[in-house]
Amino acid sequence: MTNKYIIALDQGTTSSRTVIVNDKGAIVAMEQQEIEQIYPKSGWVEHNPMEILETQLTTMKKAIKKAQIQPSEIAGIGITNQRETTVVWNKFTGKPIYNAIVWQDKRTAAICENLKEKGLDNHVNKTTGLVIDSYFSGTKINWILENVEGAKASAAKNELLFGTIDTWLLWNLTDKKIHATDYSNASRTMLFDIKNLYWDDTLLEALKIPKSMLPEVKPSSFHFGNYELNGVKIKITGIAGDQQAALFGQTCFEKGEAKNTYGTGCFLLMNTGEQLQYSKNGLLTTIAWGIDNKIYYALEGSVFIAGAAIQWLRDGLQMITSAKESEEFANLVPEESSVYVVPAFAGLGAPYWDMYARGAIFGLTQDTGKNHLIKATLESLAYQTKDLIIAMENDAQTTLISLKVDGGASANNFLMQFQAAILNTVVERPKTTETTVMGAAYLAGIYVGLWTQESIVLHRKIDREFTPNFSSEKRNRLYKKWQKAVKRSMNWEEL
Ligand code: ADP
Repeated sequence: MTNKYIIALDQGTTSSRTVIVNDKGAIVAMEQQEIEQIYPKSGWVEHNPMEILETQLTTMKKAIKKAQIQPSEIAGIGITNQRETTVVWNKFTGKPIYNAIVWQDKRTAAICENLKEKGLDNHVNKTTGLVIDSYFSGTKINWILENVEGAKASAAKNELLFGTIDTWLLWNLTDKKIHATDYSNASRTMLFDIKNLYWDDTLLEALKIPKSMLPEVKPSSFHFGNYELNGVKIKITGIAGDQQAALFGQTCFEKGEAKNTYGTGCFLLMNTGEQLQYSKNGLLTTIAWGIDNKIYYALEGSVFIAGAAIQWLRDGLQMITSAKESEEFANLVPEESSVYVVPAFAGLGAPYWDMYARGAIFGLTQDTGKNHLIKATLESLAYQTKDLIIAMENDAQTTLISLKVDGGASANNFLMQFQAAILNTVVERPKTTETTVMGAAYLAGIYVGLWTQESIVLHRKIDREFTPNFSSEKRNRLYKKWQKAVKRSMNWEEL
């Protein structure tokens, strides 16, 4: 019997999933289980780490059964995970000392303010590539140590371990033997020096985190340890945080290749190659992955309101009954848009960074109808993506080669065509939009020799390619109008 399957674990914010991939790169089984969202207070979000582990193990066992494969046929396991979410546990009892604090959790805002007051902004940016924010793991660890009874004493006695979700799963899968993470996850802790590749003493000291709690950091495609199933040792050979895994799953292996995930918000990552690039526009610099003794970096930016604006059309304005319907209505307006919707419902992120901006609609005339508004709202997703890409191109001093897309709203053909036109770049939508989990599978499969990066690119199946169809005059004119609309929506709350 040959080892020809890869198991990919995808531990996400709302569910744990397991996917089994065959040696041709096809998904042969998938199992998923939701996890409970715990909201103890306003702004606080937690998960139960034991539930995370159990749902992950259950979906794995169910998927293996569904695929009717034997443990001996499994060549490797890959893990991808919700990033930044923080678990601290006792290494002797194996029990978490507190719930997992989820990336969305805002309880450490005051700790972040304190770090800023200490003048650590620049240090954080230069060392970790990030900006000081409660989003990342560092301040969450500090909160647990300071607020959980006995935690500090326990840490001093070297009893505690920290991990992001990948690390927590790995430690348990390897029978509590391996305490490690990969470069992509480490780069989201706000504690890791992404240039020199070690934990940063200044930040550990500022946040009073003993180094002994931290995992070893390894390449993303690497033999981390083994999971024993029915007496068979299965190698765990791939780990990456979800967005980086999606970048890998979209085969953005070359400098200048980027992927955009169109979900509630957009997550855009561009591979900047082996060169670390800092951003002048407030984008994040992060490690994409470590593979073959090399580190690849990425620039990351996000749009706060993307698919959420389509939800607003559906639920708030009740102009459509489903998100999908937006495409049909937009296509009923054949002429060029004169209406612009700026969905700055929660302020504007990169590259504008204006928390006082608010949503606005411009260019209304007597004959503006619902279809115009729907079309303009869809176009706003593409314009916001272009804003980020221009910032990335400037920061990375490279030109976007192609944009690979995934996420719910990437199914919208109107939006994808407009995106290609306004960017003047080919937009490529793959057949499988399961890019995150495929990224983890690829990282694991490459290590065990099932595939190479070249063979993965050759086997990639494209659903549809959207090619630019605007003249440069039209493209520039429309985009200038968008920038004008954005400017006018800024500083609203301060007025
Ligand atoms: P998330 O992971 O953030 O929940 P998904 O990738 O599941 O997001 O995508 C859901 C989002 O995409 C919703 O905000 C929805 O409004 C939007 N969406 C889904 N399908 C379409 C479509 N065909 N056209 C436009 N927007 C869509």
